[in-house]
Amino acid sequence: MMRPSDELVFAPLGGAGEIGMNLAIYGFGDEQRRQWLAVDFGVAFADDALPGIDLIMPDIRYLVEERRNLLGLVLTHAHEDHFGALLDLWPRLEIPIYATPFTAALIEAKREGEPGSPEIPLNVVPLGGRFTLGPFDVEFVSMAHSIPESNGLIIRTPAGAVLHTGDWKIDPTPVIGAPTDEAKLRALGNEGCLALIGDSTNAVREGRSPSEADVAKCLAELIRSAPARVAVTTFASNVARMRAVAQAAASCEREVVLIGRAMERIAQVARETGYLDGIKDFRSAEVYGHLPPDKVVALCTGSQGEPRAALSRIAQDDHPEVAFSRGDRVIFSSRAIPGNEKAIMRVINGLVTQGIEVITDRTHLVHVSGHPRVSELIDMIGWVQPQILVPVHGEALHMAEHGEVARRAGVGKVILCRDGELLRLAPGDAGKIDEVPAGRLYRDGSLVVSADERTVADRRRLGFAGMVSVALAVSERGELMCHPRVMLTGVPEADRLGHRIEDVAYEAAVQAFESMPRGRRRDPDAVAEAIRSAVRAAVSSIWNKKPTCHVHVLEV
Ligand SMILES: [Zn+2]
Ligand SMILES: [Zn+2]
Repeated sequence: MMRPSDELVFAPLGGAGEIGMNLAIYGFGDEQRRQWLAVDFGVAFADDALPGIDLIMPDIRYLVEERRNLLGLVLTHAHEDHFGALLDLWPRLEIPIYATPFTAALIEAKREGEPGSPEIPLNVVPLGGRFTLGPFDVEFVSMAHSIPESNGLIIRTPAGAVLHTGDWKIDPTPVIGAPTDEAKLRALGNEGCLALIGDSTNAVREGRSPSEADVAKCLAELIRSAPARVAVTTFASNVARMRAVAQAAASCEREVVLIGRAMERIAQVARETGYLDGIKDFRSAEVYGHLPPDKVVALCTGSQGEPRAALSRIAQDDHPEVAFSRGDRVIFSSRAIPGNEKAIMRVINGLVTQGIEVITDRTHLVHVSGHPRVSELIDMIGWVQPQILVPVHGEALHMAEHGEVARRAGVGKVILCRDGELLRLAPGDAGKIDEVPAGRLYRDGSLVVSADERTVADRRRLGFAGMVSVALAVSERGELMCHPRVMLTGVPEADRLGHRIEDVAYEAAVQAFESMPRGRRRDPDAVAEAIRSAVRAAVSSIWNKKPTCHVHVLEV
C-alpha cells in the first residue's frame, strides 16, 4: 500500500566518490516515518597519506540516530569493501544481518580469528532467495564476480523496484558458481525497473572483461611449463582462482601448498561451502621444503605487497618455511589496488634480484577484473531497462563515465550523487532532495576514531617537520629555577654552518622568557605561548620548516 506522502529514497553513506567503504541505504515512507534498509558495510584501505591508519570506514552517525527505523542490513558479498566494517561497527547498530552462505561462513571465520568480536545474528539467505523486511521485498540475483556468491538485489517497494547491482561482471564461464542470472534480470526488465544503482568501477574501460576460464587456461600453461618451483599470488578471496591453480597443479602432479593465514581461512570456508569439491586437500607450509621443486605450487597471500604477508617475507628471504631460489617462477594473478603500486614493485624487485622469474598481467592473461566494462554495462541496461540510473561504486570519473554510458544507452534519467546525498527515486521527479550526515571513521590500532579528530593531521605534521619539546621550571617570583631542557624529535641536528638546532632552540626559549615582564612570567600559559612561537620562528629561520613545539612549564 502506498499513501500519497510516501516516498522511496536512496542515499550512499560510502562508496560514491571513492572505491571502497560501500554502504547504501534505502528508505520508504513519508519524511517523518521512514523505514530504512541498509546494503553493505565495507572498508577502504588507507595509504601513506593517513599515517598509522589501517582502515577507513563510513561514518554511521546517521544510522545510529535512525537505528529504530533501520530494519536490517543486507550484504551483497564478502569483499572487504562490502563487509569489512561489520565486526567493528555492528555493535553500534545491533541490527539483523542478511547474507548468503559463503558470506555468512566468512563472517563467522573472521569472527573466530578476531577474539572479542561481537556475536552477530546472521540470517542466511539461499542463493536467489527472497524475503520481506517491512515495506522492502528483497530478492537476491546471482552475479559473476571475483569471489563466490556475489549478489545483486532486487528491492521491490510499493513505489517501484530498484536493482542494486552490487559488484558484478558478465562471465559465461566463471569457473565456480553460476554465471550472472540474465533470465532474472530480463524478467525484472519486463516487470518494470524504476532505478538501477550500479557498479561503476570499470566504466572507463571499453569492451568486455575476459573470462575467469581464460585466466585458468593461462595459469595452467604457466604452471605446467615452470622449470622448478612455481608460486601464484592472488587475492585470497578469489576462490575461482584458487580452484584454477589447484586443477592446474593436479594436471601436472604438483601439490598445492597454502602460504598465508588469509589463504588458509578462505580455503577452509570454501571447502565447507562446497566450492572446492573434487579438489585434493591443500598442504600446509611446513611440507613445502620437503617436496621436490617440480612437485609443488605455492599459493601465497601478499599480491598487494603487504609487508607482513607471505610473499613480501619470501621476497626478503625472511619466511620461516618457504624460500625461493634462482630459476623459480612467481605469478602475480592480481592487479594493484590503487595506492599499492610502490609496495608491489618493492616485492617484485626483491624477487627479481634473487633471480626469480616474475610474471604479471602486463604480459600474460593471469588476471581479470571482476567488474563490468562498457559493453557489459550496456547489456545490463538493455536487460533491466531502468527509468533511472544512479552510478555508485567508483570515484567521480568512474561514476560520470557510467552515467554517460547510460545516457547513450537510452536511460531517461541519470543521477550523479556523492556520499551523504539523499535522492528521491519516486514518486514524481527523481533527484537530490536533502543531505544526511556522512563522513569517515578511521581504524587506528584497536580504536575507531572520527576522521575529524586532529590525530592524523598531527601525525602528518610531525612526519613533515618533527617536534621540539621545551621543559622549564619557574618559581613563584617568575624566575627560572634551572636551565630549560630542550629535546628534538625528527629535527636535523645542525644547520649548514654547524650551529646545533638544539642550541638555537634553547637560546630562543631563554631569550623569550627573559624578555617577558616579571608579572607575565608567573602565567604559565603566557610563558608557554611566548616560548613556543619564539622557538618555532628561530628554528624556521635556519631550517625553513616550522616544527611542532611543546612547552611544559612547571611551577615550583
Ligand atoms: Zn567485490
Ligand atoms: Zn566492491
